Amino acid sequence: MQIHKELDIVIIGGGPIGIACALEAKKHRLSYVILEKGCLVNSLYHYPTNMTFFSTSEKLELDNIPFISNNPKPHKAEALEYYRRIATSNGLNINLFEKVNSVETIENKRHKIITTKAEYTARNVIVATGFYDIPNYLNIPGEDLPKVTHYYNDPHFYATQKTVVVGASNSAVDAALEIYRKGGDVTMVIRDEAIGERVKYWVRPDIINRIEEGSVKAYFSSELLEVTEKDVLVNTQNGHERIENDFVVLLTGYRPNFDFLKSMGICLSQDGKRIPTYNPKTMETNVPGIYLAGVICGGMETYKWFIENSRIHAKMIVEDIIS
Ligand code: FAD
Repeated sequence: MQIHKELDIVIIGGGPIGIACALEAKKHRLSYVILEKGCLVNSLYHYPTNMTFFSTSEKLELDNIPFISNNPKPHKAEALEYYRRIATSNGLNINLFEKVNSVETIENKRHKIITTKAEYTARNVIVATGFYDIPNYLNIPGEDLPKVTHYYNDPHFYATQKTVVVGASNSAVDAALEIYRKGGDVTMVIRDEAIGERVKYWVRPDIINRIEEGSVKAYFSSELLEVTEKDVLVNTQNGHERIENDFVVLLTGYRPNFDFLKSMGICLSQDGKRIPTYNPKTMETNVPGIYLAGVICGGMETYKWFIENSRIHAKMIVEDIIS
């Protein structure tokens, strides 16, 4: 295994916020590397093909580098282009397809980082691993059948197919509308009484109208209980109902890798929100020299942090490191 010389900072995660941290480290002439287990901006790359951000492009900018888009809200493809150009034109030091397996604090408050390819030591570690790798599983029979997915990509696949979409957040609503408009027969199964309040304000009336006119069927206050090869079992307001079905798209959210945080010694709140312990002024965790950046900070409240409001973490962390 290759052993690297000691660095000022190891950044875990090559998402937008990991990149923001690298830009800041470079500006202050700190030695650093980003270790990313997948491709560059791996989470974004796996978002749905036609995804439109809710933020305007200025709000997704890093280090005031202009993000030029002709659309009122940029599309996924534009964001991939933007973050890739930042990484390459600034010559950022990024190792892709290299997963961090463990971080251990060793003597003199240094850290040993073991990846799938090498071993590093660093005085500081920034954990910017996001929350998109682990779906909130329903843990119901049939959830592992090939007809079920926790990641929606493209509507064409579902054309003419009886598709159940579970959830009522932005992701679920976008998927339901896209699939319906590409000829899928969509049924939504929604735990709450209504479409979520956080659904993009220009999309919410669209889905409500499609449900009211019957183009998209919806079971509110309902739960998916079981998936079989030919149908799904739903606990509806009127009792159990079996619905004939080809595909199930489970969009019930994602969660950070809490085991990874705990393995480093980072404490989590005990109130069910599982918010990691960190100083909100510096982003340093209870483990000296280990910092959090980006959406990982939110614990189970994954909607609280996004690119817009967490890109600032990069400056806060590097200021603390150099102080
Ligand atoms: P991520 O982008 O998730 O990056 C984390 C990276 O860490 C990933 O690339 C992952 O592969 C890597 N990683 C994880 N574990 C390891 C490991 N052990 N070793 C190495 N690498 C690892 N935000 C906005 O501000 N505006 C929007 O309009 C917006 N729209 C969104 C729409 C959708 C459909 C979704 C799902 C999210 C949206 N967000 C939006 C949220 C935004 O995408 C996230 O806030 C953003 O990706 C956070 O960046 P991050 O760098 O913290 O995490």
